[in-house]
Amino acid sequence: MEIEIDSDSGFCFGVTTAINKAEEELLKEEPLYCLGDIVHNSMEVNRLSKKGLKTIDHNQFFQLRNEKVLLRAHGEPPSTYEIAKENGIEIIDATCPVVLNLQKNIKKAYLSSNTEDTQIVIYGKIGHAEVNGLVGQTEGHAIVIESLDDLNKIDFTKKIKLFSQTTKSIGNFDQIVEKIKENITDCKNFEFNDTICRQVANRIPKIINFVSKHELVFFVSGKKSSNGKVLLDECSKINSNIHLISDLEELDFSLLEGVNTVGICGATSTPKWLMEELKSKIERYLQNKKA
Ligand code: SF4
Repeated sequence: MEIEIDSDSGFCFGVTTAINKAEEELLKEEPLYCLGDIVHNSMEVNRLSKKGLKTIDHNQFFQLRNEKVLLRAHGEPPSTYEIAKENGIEIIDATCPVVLNLQKNIKKAYLSSNTEDTQIVIYGKIGHAEVNGLVGQTEGHAIVIESLDDLNKIDFTKKIKLFSQTTKSIGNFDQIVEKIKENITDCKNFEFNDTICRQVANRIPKIINFVSKHELVFFVSGKKSSNGKVLLDECSKINSNIHLISDLEELDFSLLEGVNTVGICGATSTPKWLMEELKSKIERYLQNKKA
């Protein structure tokens, strides 16, 4: 049986940088907190937690005083930086440069508009950390739409400035743009910005090619990964024998019966070592079966 790991799957540069920063700081052997899971992958979170990284939520962050806190690649709203300043928190900022740039552009769009006649609209997941950070740039005024069904939140007689969460699908973003164009009273009042990260979008053709080559595919990703969901949806259109693995315990060996080629791929939040462990687990099973 041939088992292949997709060489283009695994951490994007934003996640790699955040994890490298965390590991560098941990070497100093001082307490280090991370606001939220450093990456949407519980196995990687556990690995770093064994090295000393303490993951906290926003409520725990409010209680901290004079500690060091790492901000992950998703970024944070301005209020997080203000609280840190008030409470003597040293920030290790690992916000991805792509997200930082998007935050700046949304802030600029917001500050240069009149909230009475302009709506800043973000296509993204309500409550997602990156989206919270983006909405924070508009003092909470931005309207978040998750799908075409949410377009009724928009007033089409007013100006619209549309942005996207970095990990959304380009196809869905384009559909939203088209629907807004159909409904807006005056097209001159509509400005749209495709702010989808190419680290995600450019992977789609490559991963589609990869999954089309294999009879059985394991897609390794945390269940909370937004990018994982986009890529898995795309892969499922090409290969129906694809299975999500968020923990190696979920591997169902019976799926391997009668299969000649197995592909292992994942999201921008999937560590390479996890895909390699899955491959080794399958190989061990096959060897034991032969013996
Ligand atoms: S997917 Fe893109 S925006 Fe998100 S962390 Fe990775 S590089 Fe940055």
